[in-house]
Amino acid sequence: MNNINLKTIANDGKARVNEVKINGKTFQTPSFMPVATRGAIKSLPLDYLKKTDVLLANTYHLFLRPGLEVIKEFDGLHNFIGWNKLILTDSGGFQGWSIPNKFKEDGIEFKNIYDGSKFFMDPILSMDIQNILNSDIAMILDSLVDIDKDYDTQLQSINITKKWAETARNYHSNDTQSLFGIVQGGKFNELREKSALDMVSLNFDGYAIGGLAIGETPTERKNIVDFTVDILPNDKLRYVMGLGDIEGMLDLIELGIDIFDCVWPARLARHGKIINKGNFFNLKNSQFKNITEPLVVDCKCYVCNNFSKAYLRHLLINESTSSWFYLTLHNIYQTENILSEVRKSILNSEFENYKGSILNG
Ligand SMILES: [Zn+2]
Repeated sequence: MNNINLKTIANDGKARVNEVKINGKTFQTPSFMPVATRGAIKSLPLDYLKKTDVLLANTYHLFLRPGLEVIKEFDGLHNFIGWNKLILTDSGGFQGWSIPNKFKEDGIEFKNIYDGSKFFMDPILSMDIQNILNSDIAMILDSLVDIDKDYDTQLQSINITKKWAETARNYHSNDTQSLFGIVQGGKFNELREKSALDMVSLNFDGYAIGGLAIGETPTERKNIVDFTVDILPNDKLRYVMGLGDIEGMLDLIELGIDIFDCVWPARLARHGKIINKGNFFNLKNSQFKNITEPLVVDCKCYVCNNFSKAYLRHLLINESTSSWFYLTLHNIYQTENILSEVRKSILNSEFENYKGSILNG
């Protein structure tokens, strides 16, 4: 059921700010969703995500561990992980691309990454799992193929996605959970258009443009999004999955995308890479050995308010567990803070200036 109330409160070119209310919780887009794969972010307890409005969790992984019997005891993922803000669950479609599997017309035969056993994920099982997780937004199971695959393979992918989308749409009955469709079609405008129209005809509560952030160039990505966004309805959320680097998000916000998710800020942190506006630097570099300044001078996060580059570099090299916590906290804060500044800039019709200042500053 559509539990999303969306009001566009500002446009700046195609970029927009929406006020979104879901299950009584209000937030604004453009918005970034940190990824809590198994209900947790590596190295960072969820209660440190003060600015986060929506958390993403993975259907495939939570189905295998801890498993649905455990989640049922808690009436869903919110209670199990102690998160009272919003949750979006993916469908398993991405793991159908990233984890070895056998793709079939009616679902995906997966290998359990923990014990090697096989299980079959079809659109109904994906809905059942997401229903028990009781996320605020669920995604349809989709057929994701490499962006460079040929026309016939992409055509097959959008046809299977359409079939699975119809099954999911008809079956889904959770009235506190919205359901999003996913547009596929690789680099072919004709197929993107067909897939977008297929999804819109099923009247989903929001739409993802899928199959991106898996190897295309930024220019190819922008062309696909620019073309596809115009086919999607204005009064529904638009989501690009798996993308979360600052420049990539700014490029797509400019084209009208509202929400993003990615493991990127957390993964960078564990490699000692520090986000500073549109760029990042490597804290392991010896030039930071004696630096008394914070990671980013004007950052207002807990880490930058309290610690120096020199100390955090020392932790990174000698006490990595502590450093991962601090660096992840900073990187997610930077990402979310930039998106809150993006929203302000759109409200003030200054998005282009802001984008330039972040990428060149
Ligand atoms: Zn900081």
